[in-house]
Amino acid sequence: MSWESVNKKISCPCGKGTYTETRSDNDWGQFRTDWTMDCVSCSNRYSLYAFTYYRHAMPCEGYRWIDKYKLEHAISLQNKVKSIQKNVISLAYERYIDVLFKYFESSNKKEIWDVLNSKIDSFKSLSSFYQSTSKWSKVEYLGTIFCDDYLDAMFNIIQVSDNEIEDLRKKAIEFSQEAKEILNGN
Ligand SMILES: [Zn+2]
Repeated sequence: MSWESVNKKISCPCGKGTYTETRSDNDWGQFRTDWTMDCVSCSNRYSLYAFTYYRHAMPCEGYRWIDKYKLEHAISLQNKVKSIQKNVISLAYERYIDVLFKYFESSNKKEIWDVLNSKIDSFKSLSSFYQSTSKWSKVEYLGTIFCDDYLDAMFNIIQVSDNEIEDLRKKAIEFSQEAKEILNGN
């Protein structure tokens, strides 16, 4: 399997040099793009941030040269967000799984799905709910509601508000916003 590459020189952020974009593809129709900084002063200052985005549902490769320290900061913020989210989920689970379980104590699967479907935007279909939960006990599949996307709905269902958890989630949103701004080049 051999790769064929085409190089293109592009003006670097400081404008005094270049970086090289290398587009490669192989006999199997795979392709990839790499970017290397040629300019010495830019390579001291910037790191490459490469990402995938979707245009008309097709994955596209994006990239940006970002100040090294800002990029490091953004990545550490993203890591903080992940650890806060993990903490939030385990706190919520620890504190409220019993409440949720009690709430649905006498409900069958269909009744549980009805409630979840009415509270959670674009919740899975009834048939895929049955399918994905077929091997799980009630407490196991109720436990899956303790994920970041569903937490608001879950608190709404059991009518709970938890300041500590809310504060943590606000912090996570702030950090992730700040990281996004750096990564989007603002
Ligand atoms: Zn430069």
